[in-house]
Amino acid sequence: MPACRIDELLTRATELAQVSDTARLDLELLLCHVLDKPRSYLFSYPEYELTSDQLSQFEQLFHKRLEGHPIAHLTGVREFWSLELLIEPSTLIPRPDTECLVEEALELCDHRPKQVLDLGTGTGAIALALASERPGWAVYGCDRVPDAVELAKKNAAHNNLERVQFIESSWFQQLPEQSFDLIVSNPPYIIDNDPHLQQGDVRFEPLSALTSGADGLDDIRHISSESPHWLRDGGWLMMEHGYHQGEDVREILASNGFTSIRTVQDLAGHDRITMGQIRSSEI
Ligand code: GLN
Repeated sequence: MPACRIDELLTRATELAQVSDTARLDLELLLCHVLDKPRSYLFSYPEYELTSDQLSQFEQLFHKRLEGHPIAHLTGVREFWSLELLIEPSTLIPRPDTECLVEEALELCDHRPKQVLDLGTGTGAIALALASERPGWAVYGCDRVPDAVELAKKNAAHNNLERVQFIESSWFQQLPEQSFDLIVSNPPYIIDNDPHLQQGDVRFEPLSALTSGADGLDDIRHISSESPHWLRDGGWLMMEHGYHQGEDVREILASNGFTSIRTVQDLAGHDRITMGQIRSSEI
């Protein structure tokens, strides 16, 4: 008789620990997914025995996780900010670091109506988080990948935020002419051929959402040079970047006419978000 109680299955974290730093959490999330129950259920009913269908679904997902597939691809969802986002392999899986960008954007801008653009929106994470906090803002998200735009629209509906508009566009290329108070982006910023791309969950994410040229800054340079045209006087550009790229990003922003440039750190204390403002009198 194979082990099939919740508490027995949770002991398999040791097996998973060979491939995941978050083995126990992974197991809990897989069990919650299979049982369609919140995490509290696992602790309230540790003696619950999975049905044979539930057990075979669990075994399938467990083996995929052992092969390295990200948990979010197996459960199809990921929490971001206060939202539940649907996840597909066509886009980057939202990271907790990116919540720092949302926090900074909210801090920077008050509640007055604003036009806001999220470039390379992927799942729609940043755009939807901002819209959920600022009902008065007009929030747009764009992505070059049609599947990402479809997914972002699904996520808008899933979170009752249909007022966020998602558009298929490679950065600014297909956007209708308009101006923004705030442009945010979590662009690709990893250097091509970074050895980390061969390890862990990122192996299952699209390279186009991760890498950006020999120094990882190609897209950040592009966004920084195009953004001034799309920003109103006093508007801000805010981008996520690698922990070692703060100084480079500040220089790139300065060379494109931005002022009041500053970098903020992520939860681990690493440079992660850099922002700058456009003042037309200073361009
Ligand atoms: N921070 C992510 C990682 O290290 C990369 C995200 C990105 O390229 N925008 O996996």
